[in-house]
Amino acid sequence: MLPTRTPALLRKLFPSLTWSVERDEKCVYLTFDDGPHPEITPWVMEELDKYGFKATFFCIGDNVRKYPETYQEILNNGHRTGNHTFNHLKGFSTSSPTYFENIQECAQLVKSELYRPPYGQITFSQIKHLSKQYQIIMWSLLVEDWNPKLDQAKKLSLLSSETKSGDIIVFHDSEKAFENLKVILPEYLEFLSNAGFSSVVF
Ligand SMILES: [Zn+2]
Repeated sequence: MLPTRTPALLRKLFPSLTWSVERDEKCVYLTFDDGPHPEITPWVMEELDKYGFKATFFCIGDNVRKYPETYQEILNNGHRTGNHTFNHLKGFSTSSPTYFENIQECAQLVKSELYRPPYGQITFSQIKHLSKQYQIIMWSLLVEDWNPKLDQAKKLSLLSSETKSGDIIVFHDSEKAFENLKVILPEYLEFLSNAGFSSVVF
């Protein structure tokens, strides 16, 4: 199982990436990757609405092309969006020109200064190039909602006990993650609300 909290060493190695945000007030940054999805994304937004929470959706360009209405709904509901490449490319195994082109293709549809690399894969030279144009958003807490073997109750209690102000938490509004998401998200949002956290966008 992957660690819930991003190791400090990784954060130190890549200091120019955003791993969390210093905040005085009690708030977190909920983020959802790999959408938009015509059923799951609206469901996520309904859950967020119950608490007035806002979130950031890192969208795959090809999904925005397929589901433009859902994408527009995200913006209409006051959430933020970010670039997650057009085809969900891996930074380590893709040549930089192809990688940057794919991000540019996504940028035609996703107008945002926020970028999140798929799989968290990004090289030093890619960071250098992309930092000129984007704030690169990583995460401090990982839900692992894509994992079919996830112990949902254990993960939920880990997440709840670990959550600190300024944390960036990554979920997925994708079919692969939905089995876990539909259990974990409502309970986690309830926890956040009861504990006095709000959810804000970048
Ligand atoms: Zn992704």
